[in-house]
Amino acid sequence: MERPLTDHEMEVLRRLTAVDKPEAPDVRASLNYLVVDDECDCGCDSFGVRDPRFPEQDHHLQSWVDARSVDGVTTLGLLLGSDGRLKYLDIYTPNQGHLPTAEDLEILP
Ligand SMILES: [Zn+2]
Repeated sequence: MERPLTDHEMEVLRRLTAVDKPEAPDVRASLNYLVVDDECDCGCDSFGVRDPRFPEQDHHLQSWVDARSVDGVTTLGLLLGSDGRLKYLDIYTPNQGHLPTAEDLEILP
């Protein structure tokens, strides 16, 4: 079941993709086309995305950008699929699985 991204999710993706990496320009160009195509069964705010302009990527994930909330409670990772396009935003531990606001995120080196 696919749905549009919420404003909150889009703000977080904009924040996390504002990085100086080789894939970043293409990833940013995709943002306005993304739909949410996966949500975590555990009830946390992790979600998967896809750009419907391209064929679906397989389930192989590669870590791309990691970030942490300024209070240090939440770490999360933005993952690319096998074709180098955005695939999943994974909220790591330890937390209640809630997505921090974009302004509260700092990119980890
Ligand atoms: Zn979860």
